Amino acid sequence: MQSTMQDVPLTVTRILAHGSTVHAGAKVTTWTGDGAPERRTFAEVGRRATRLAHALHGLGVREGEPVGTLMWNNGDHLEAYLAIPSMGAVLHTLNLRLPAEQLAWIVRHAADRVVIVSGSLLPLLAPLLPHLECVEHVVVSGAGDTSVLAGCRPQVHAYEELIAGHPDDAYPWPELEERQAAALCYTSGTTGEPKGVVYSHRSVYLHAMEVNAAASFGLTPAEVCLPVVPMFHVNAWGLPHAAFMAGSSLLMPDRFLQPAPLAEMIEAERPTVTAGVPTIWQGLLAELVAKPRDVSSLRTVISGGSACPPSLMKDFEEKLGLTLVQAWGMTETSPLGTVAYPPAGLNAEEAWPYRITQGRVPASVEARLVGPGGEVLPWDGRSAGELEVRGPWIAGAYHGGADGEPQRPEDKFSPDGWLRTGDVGVISPDGFLTLTDRAKDVIKSGGEWISSVELENHLMAHPGIAEAAVIGVPDEKWGERPLAAVVLRDGASADFEGLRAFLGDRVARWQLPERWTTVAAVPKTSVGKFDKKVLRKQYADGDLV
Ligand code: ADP
Repeated sequence: MQSTMQDVPLTVTRILAHGSTVHAGAKVTTWTGDGAPERRTFAEVGRRATRLAHALHGLGVREGEPVGTLMWNNGDHLEAYLAIPSMGAVLHTLNLRLPAEQLAWIVRHAADRVVIVSGSLLPLLAPLLPHLECVEHVVVSGAGDTSVLAGCRPQVHAYEELIAGHPDDAYPWPELEERQAAALCYTSGTTGEPKGVVYSHRSVYLHAMEVNAAASFGLTPAEVCLPVVPMFHVNAWGLPHAAFMAGSSLLMPDRFLQPAPLAEMIEAERPTVTAGVPTIWQGLLAELVAKPRDVSSLRTVISGGSACPPSLMKDFEEKLGLTLVQAWGMTETSPLGTVAYPPAGLNAEEAWPYRITQGRVPASVEARLVGPGGEVLPWDGRSAGELEVRGPWIAGAYHGGADGEPQRPEDKFSPDGWLRTGDVGVISPDGFLTLTDRAKDVIKSGGEWISSVELENHLMAHPGIAEAAVIGVPDEKWGERPLAAVVLRDGASADFEGLRAFLGDRVARWQLPERWTTVAAVPKTSVGKFDKKVLRKQYADGDLV
């Protein structure tokens, strides 16, 4: 029997058309610091995106070609998110916090010919331009000191001037195949060189639908979504496309990502859903404890990108009355992989053990755990192995560069095509994933594995500790032993014996670190995660006691 259903491609063009008409009145509000926030309706965003498509076409942008964006989370960036894929080109978000060399490498690898840049980021881009032979046009969005571009080779355009004068009601949007490239994002390189993941229209569309599902982030026209996660970090976890599809208004923080302005914009604009990495929430918590604001509009605060310390979830609940929901994902998974909502019918105490897991996969994502010999392990809550996933928004290869073929390195993809996540954990019989560590961060001590995340979570629950990172350092007898680097809270003293005793009540004796140090701050990656690579380099000799 043949299916009798229509076959309509799932494209970003659909999201643009739908959001700007059916949800014409929904708003994107961009925070401007001291000034009045800048507000645009989705209808206006649609019209401006149409103009942008004309303007980019005028610069010679054609189907399949990447367009770089080096931008904060704001209204113009949302227009780029919609216009670039809809015209058949590829939205390439650039991570503005990467070291200059890595950023330049990525622009060259992708061969971006046009880069749209936030005016305030010109001092970052200008010194790179002499090394970016591929870039022919720089489009400056918002105010900025364009004098730093004096004498530069690419042509410089002001975003508003460039889009002005183009028709805002029609563009010959091409009929796209749903498997065409829509967006390109490089991994933040926490472990190794950045790798490009090329999302398709279909993967972006299906992922957006899942983001909007009630069992994920539940965006609807009644919500106001604040993506604190940058739009260059895995497409702000899919939230801009998902919100435009759902008609959920957006509150964009622009460059005001520090705890104080975040607290102010939440109080003033009353978002209902927000998402970011744990270090953002740690900062916001401290700010709100020191200077309370009304943040009661928030129904859900999503924490992802690295393990969320249970103590932080508790503090959010007890001190702020807010619910932190943990989610797991990667650049390669678009990123929605798991979300930790407890099963129905449990009281708060019963729900807690589920909430501190990484959560469950949605139907479209399959997960399996694989042991060291390649054997698939049972979901018994005990058997630990590397997590592998597959699904319609999971990468099956990496971008091979402008003229290169897609790459499928063996350490990243299994012979049968599953993505090897590099994360180690267990899955319970009812499907809850608990990650114990990244394979590269696990401490291998005398044939036993010590979870750095477990030690960190316990340490961060100690009242004297603000942050803690645990790394493996070389040890003659055991191969590797844990070293704990802790950031003390104001007024706390470095009582390492006391901390060992505190940990001793919570983990097995052989897991207790012998090596301790205090640090002013745990080094962070470009997306705000603990950078253990830096710590490992610092303590490579393992001498510290
Ligand atoms: P990079 O790999 O360059 O850091 P990603 O943002 O893609 O960039 O990082 C994905 C990784 O982040 C995952 O493989 C995992 O190790 C970690 N991660 C993401 N969310 C969580 C979470 N909720 N708990 C623990 N680890 C997480």
